Amino acid sequence: MTGLPIAGRWFERSRVDHAITLLWEPHVIPLMRCNIWHVRGRSRDLVIDTGMGLASLTAAIDDLLVATERPVTAVATHGHDDHIGNHHEFADVVAHAIEAPLLLDPPLRSLVPREAWGDDAIDALEAMGYPMPDPYFVDALPAGFVMDGFRQRPVAAVRTVGEGDVLDLGDRTFEVLHLPGHSPGSIGLWEAATGTLFSGDAIYDGPLLDELPESDIQAYCLTMERLLQLPVEVVHGGHDPSFGRSRLRELATAYLRHRRAP
Ligand SMILES: [Zn+2]
Repeated sequence: MTGLPIAGRWFERSRVDHAITLLWEPHVIPLMRCNIWHVRGRSRDLVIDTGMGLASLTAAIDDLLVATERPVTAVATHGHDDHIGNHHEFADVVAHAIEAPLLLDPPLRSLVPREAWGDDAIDALEAMGYPMPDPYFVDALPAGFVMDGFRQRPVAAVRTVGEGDVLDLGDRTFEVLHLPGHSPGSIGLWEAATGTLFSGDAIYDGPLLDELPESDIQAYCLTMERLLQLPVEVVHGGHDPSFGRSRLRELATAYLRHRRAP
């Protein structure tokens, strides 16, 4: 028994505009609470990242998906635990080749942080500014969730994408940007026509993680320099609230100052 309460509703959502909806899991601890984006297109919808995988995402966004018979592409901005939990619910899954193995065999097998990741990883995260006092990654559970034997479910197949590939929704197109640093196969989705960037964990308005075992600070610096060149109107990140170009400049230049300090 975990002693955790049962949440009445697992996903919360907020409409960003006529086509974009943000979903999140309020009972997941802040470090692991990723932004889940639904983008409605004329002939195809996108779901960008899918959360922890403790409750059905497709059931939660049923009303967004069933209005028409549009196919859905589920994009993984990268393969970290908090972004890939529900990709198995989608037939068309897209990720960078470097991250694909994490979707095909998700490593997360416990909701107890030190069991899931090991003491060294937790100690390192705390040193990076993410205190992890919580006994679980969650402060409640979805109805019907069984803790014993939990593991994230694998996807059946991944369609791999890389720099310059295009996801065409009929009335809007997103170009894949390879944005390594946080993880080697991190990608963003860039819509030049509107200046919209879905950035995953390449940039968001919170402490960035660049000292994970798979992180690469030099690559991250190059990614930040690249992001500074993009004519961005809005960034929808993998965590935290969305922001505009001036905040992007602040975040990217602060990162470069910190990591390129003499
Ligand atoms: Zn991540």
